[in-house]
Amino acid sequence: MRRSIIAGNWKMHGSREAVAGFCKALRGARLGAELDVLVFPPVAYLGQFVDGVRNTGVAAGAQDLHPAAQGAHTGGVSGAMIAELGGRWALTGHSERRSEHGESDALVAAKFGAALSAGLRPILCVGETLAQRQSGEAESFVARQVQTVIEAVGVDGLARGAVAYEPIWAIGTGETAAPGQAAGMHRLIRETIAASDAALAESIRVIYGGSVSPHNAAELFSEPEVDGGLIGGASLQVQSFLAIVAAAV
Ligand code: PEP
Repeated sequence: MRRSIIAGNWKMHGSREAVAGFCKALRGARLGAELDVLVFPPVAYLGQFVDGVRNTGVAAGAQDLHPAAQGAHTGGVSGAMIAELGGRWALTGHSERRSEHGESDALVAAKFGAALSAGLRPILCVGETLAQRQSGEAESFVARQVQTVIEAVGVDGLARGAVAYEPIWAIGTGETAAPGQAAGMHRLIRETIAASDAALAESIRVIYGGSVSPHNAAELFSEPEVDGGLIGGASLQVQSFLAIVAAAV
């Protein structure tokens, strides 16, 4: 039985006041005992968030990182800097990074490796567009996204992280993949990994993201292939985030 992950991705939302309120609501709740509860606030608030959730069982991470350890990279934030702020995880290859910043599979793989080098646990985000799904290319597209990371960091590297399947057509749209659709792609991801390491294919956590809400979370998480969720919009309000956490327990 794989341990579930529920991860909140705040994207570019928040303020010091909002972080303080969110952390206050989390304090006292021992959330990390049965599953990994993670929050990815904007990196500007990561230190504040980490301080605010100390001893709650909630862990935090960054939504992105630079592939280099240091150097002349204006605006960049390295894995070591994230770790120094108390981050333990990092998202890599979120579709908004891929589309807004032109991140290629190779760059995403380099970021995954950089997170590992800094001692962070990376979550590799993968997923297809609606056009790719409609033209029957979704499987090969997602398989290549996964395979590029395996080639860059090896199966031992991949094993230190997790995968999030996030169909782009479901992110922020209110349209969720049917549980069977999500399960089918999670199985494809495991088959891709199994070509390199059959045991890892079964043990790695593959979570689903794309308009998960308190209303659909339980049905999605009841799929044995779905090891939890990466939650965007519904993670911004602490009560809906906690309702999704409850659906995974
Ligand atoms: C996300 O940001 O990764 C995401 C899945 O967003 P939403 O839950 O809002 O679709």
